[in-house]
Amino acid sequence: MSMTTVGVLRETAGRERRVAITPDGVTRLRRTGVRVLVETGAGRHAWFSDPDYAAAGADIGGRQQVYGESDVLLVVRPPDDVAALPAGRVLIGLLDPLGDPALAQTLAEQGVTAISLDLLPRTLSRAQPMDALTSQANVAGYKAALLAAEAYGGFFPMLVTAAGTTRPAQVLVLGAGVAGLQAIATARRLGALVTGYDVRAQARADIASTGAAVLSMDATQDGDGGYARALDEDEAATQLRALTQAVPRFDVVITTAKVPGGRSPLLVSEDALRAMRPGSVVLDLGGGNVAGSAPDTRTVTDHGVTVIGAPNLAATVPVAASTAYARNVVALISSLMPEGRLPGESSDEVLAAVLVCRDGAVVHPRLNELETR
Ligand code: NAD
Repeated sequence: MSMTTVGVLRETAGRERRVAITPDGVTRLRRTGVRVLVETGAGRHAWFSDPDYAAAGADIGGRQQVYGESDVLLVVRPPDDVAALPAGRVLIGLLDPLGDPALAQTLAEQGVTAISLDLLPRTLSRAQPMDALTSQANVAGYKAALLAAEAYGGFFPMLVTAAGTTRPAQVLVLGAGVAGLQAIATARRLGALVTGYDVRAQARADIASTGAAVLSMDATQDGDGGYARALDEDEAATQLRALTQAVPRFDVVITTAKVPGGRSPLLVSEDALRAMRPGSVVLDLGGGNVAGSAPDTRTVTDHGVTVIGAPNLAATVPVAASTAYARNVVALISSLMPEGRLPGESSDEVLAAVLVCRDGAVVHPRLNELETR
């Protein structure tokens, strides 16, 4: 059998600066016995040049060539020219099939086999090195704290200087999964007084273990298998009322709350925004956690509160995010695709979980459930 070619596509999504494989990732991939073909300029926005990739042993080619010669195609986010994907190829990326089931259908119709890293079962220890949601959320949480600090007009730390002593910023982080915990840790390193909150008891214990304060509220739950479930209407209303009381005490609020496969909950209401002090900053990383926030947009309310919508912050730290993502992808290929090939028949539970479509059909059970609903 001829050697498998693994292609790396340049990202096409707006503002996306990551790349699926770094030069270091090329070295690691080649150890699995595959040829690597990188699209010209694929790493440019993450400061990885074509010569860097070539030095690591990759071939460099135009997009047509990458599509034409690759058995496996690697991306971070879905390419905007999926129609160009030839049948029989394996596409691997963060394809968000639960958020965009139509894409899964299109890929299936084109005869593409698609693997989506966001479907990975996260509690299996074997899958952890492949966990791109975690690696990217970690980067996003870090950047969220920096971005909020930059937008805030005061210091995060208490500083004692000849010109006086400054009050430390009071920061509230809502949602304490991977991103929230990293935002808490980063804001604490900057010297802010940090409080965290999550609906899950385990996450509240995680907040406490960082040394941050835990916001006490009645609205709590314990979701399945480490994930939150969507709150019902009454629970959500109770939570929003309690948060509307709590939020105005803080200078900076960072929200990271998500529900897998569902809409992100509203946590900061218009009333809360109105009650905050002028100069306060609210950063929405969860997307939809803050009234009136819009993706990749910074607005200032009439009352002087800066609202930042930042659902894709990992893309703005492209070196760290791409390096971690590449490790995740190489781990996945090494584990699931010996010599770059998918096994014909497999009872592998990780593979079964991440496989979106194969041989012209959507095969993922949760996607098939969505379609019949
Ligand atoms: P996520 O991005 O899906 O959600 C972020 C956080 O928002 C979660 O902690 C969730 O509880 C919280 N949230 C949801 N609705 C909320 C609401 N109404 N109010 C307040 N908070 C709300 O979560 P994630 O960061 O991807 O991680 C989810 C869980 O999976 C975490 O417990 C994480 O530790 C766990 N995890 C485990 C492993 C592992 O075992 N290897 C790996 C990765 C993640």
